[in-house]
Amino acid sequence: MKLNCPHCSWTIPAENINIQTAIAKCGSCSAVFGFADKAPGAVPFGSKRAVEMPKGYSVDHVGTGLEITRRWRSWKYLALLGFCIFWDGFLVVWYFIAFTKGGPLVMKLFPILHVAAGVALTYTAIAGLLNRTRITVNTAEVGIKHFPLPWLGNRLVMRQEIDQLFCEEKIRHGKNGVHYSYNLSAVLRDGKRLKLVSGLDTPEKALFLEQQIEGYLGIADRPVAGEMRPV
Ligand SMILES: [Zn+2]
Repeated sequence: MKLNCPHCSWTIPAENINIQTAIAKCGSCSAVFGFADKAPGAVPFGSKRAVEMPKGYSVDHVGTGLEITRRWRSWKYLALLGFCIFWDGFLVVWYFIAFTKGGPLVMKLFPILHVAAGVALTYTAIAGLLNRTRITVNTAEVGIKHFPLPWLGNRLVMRQEIDQLFCEEKIRHGKNGVHYSYNLSAVLRDGKRLKLVSGLDTPEKALFLEQQIEGYLGIADRPVAGEMRPV
């Protein structure tokens, strides 16, 4: 089976194609896309063309449009919270000793960066357990809002500015191995790319959003002009 990236036309090698899930990724522009519609024979019997709704997602048709809500909650945030209790607890004990036993100034200043890290990680853990992302789609605009705890990345994009949506794989090499995450991004009319939702942990979660939003707005998944490269 020969498959080309719908975004940059790169020919996808076999090892980047997952026949079971009908998901492929482009090694050239790191786009991730479903191809069940292009090769129906490749998809196992009984599986649907559309990506199934991932756990923690809900889709509502409200008066003004489509509303997709994604709950952030996952085990990794619970693990992070456990780590924060340990980390913050250590700092509390440290400062308790520093201030009650009259520790030297260096004892009070030394852990300042540890305190900053503790605050940031604890905030991330609590946001991860409480927060949701709501994507509102209507004929005028697409909005992304994270709540109830404030978080970077709220957006409001005019519908007419959006040319295409696509999913991207991000690879991070860390100490504990390779970490993959997935983004839903938009290609705008002027050719610029805008990240809409980031940090999704499976390609299905990003593809589901792409399918729902494109379906609602009537955007056909097609190669993006201007992004085309000679094969
Ligand atoms: Zn590509």
